[in-house]
Amino acid sequence: MERADSGAETRTLQAGFDMVEVRELSKHYGPTRAVEKLSFTVSHGEILGFLGPNGAGKTTMLKMLTCYLPPSSGEATIFGYDILTDSMEVRKRIGYLPEKNPLYHDMRVESFLRYVARLKGISGTRLNDSIERVIDRCGISEVRRTLIGRLSKGYQQRVGIAQAIVNDPQLLILDEPTIGLDPRQIVEIRKLIRELGADRTVILSSHILPEVNQICDRVIIINRGRLIAVDAPENLRKHLRAFSTTRVLLGDASAVEPALDVIRSIAGVALAREDTGGDPALVVESKPEKDLRAEMARRLIDSGLPLLEIYNEELSLEDIFIQLVTEERH
Ligand code: ADP
Repeated sequence: MERADSGAETRTLQAGFDMVEVRELSKHYGPTRAVEKLSFTVSHGEILGFLGPNGAGKTTMLKMLTCYLPPSSGEATIFGYDILTDSMEVRKRIGYLPEKNPLYHDMRVESFLRYVARLKGISGTRLNDSIERVIDRCGISEVRRTLIGRLSKGYQQRVGIAQAIVNDPQLLILDEPTIGLDPRQIVEIRKLIRELGADRTVILSSHILPEVNQICDRVIIINRGRLIAVDAPENLRKHLRAFSTTRVLLGDASAVEPALDVIRSIAGVALAREDTGGDPALVVESKPEKDLRAEMARRLIDSGLPLLEIYNEELSLEDIFIQLVTEERH
């Protein structure tokens, strides 16, 4: 990637460019290998999720990217600037919301945002414009004069996001942005993150699997500091399914044996057996590339068998995560 020499040029980066390039980045705290040789890139406009259990190294990774913590080895560039040697240039261009929201509880929302904006070097007419923009963007106009300590957790998180984007950064980094929120607040914050991701790059961390599934275009799964998978949530599912499982529900127990004969004669079926879990049903395994449901339905009905329902079982992101982490241990 070409190195960007000014804010104006930074904005001209096109979708598809690597905004973040990380090469073999490691962080060791004494004997603890918190992050171990992680390499990845983030394209302009992407929402990337870091997913991993507690202690996986997510916060450490984000602290290195935001120049709060120097790496033990390896390198990373953001907009072409090195996080170690050009850290001021990196800091100017990113917004960061740490896991522990950095708010002053005895300040009012608007004064706090003004204070942060000044710290970030914003002044003159740009100052008022920036404040109005983030207040509007984060939906906090009705609380702009409220003391931050009096706000609900959900609103405090909005203010935390507002302070992170007050300098209009092209890269927003959020560490566990929904932690400690109630379910309604979680939905609202996820929606806000998606909206913010429409016109900037976002990197967030989470230990909640459905969260990254909902918000992110791509997910990096880490465990014990090491990268174990990178892909779109959808692709992670596909890659891990050696076989897809289809369930065939029948209206009559006497139909199980003849239905097994019919299903086993279909090309592409790897295994068919009776589902002994309850109602008359079959479990069918086949290669995931070919969806055999229509053919199974047609053949069963042509044979006069009482087909009630036929569906593919989805592997949840939880299943994928467990599978990946277990494979990695072996
Ligand atoms: P996560 O954000 O995924 O929960 P962290 O990056 O916070 O993971 O931690 C990764 C590992 O590094 C953990 O084993 C944690 O105990 C350790 N760790 C984090 N910060 C420090 C520190 N300041 N000193 C020593 N060990 C640390």
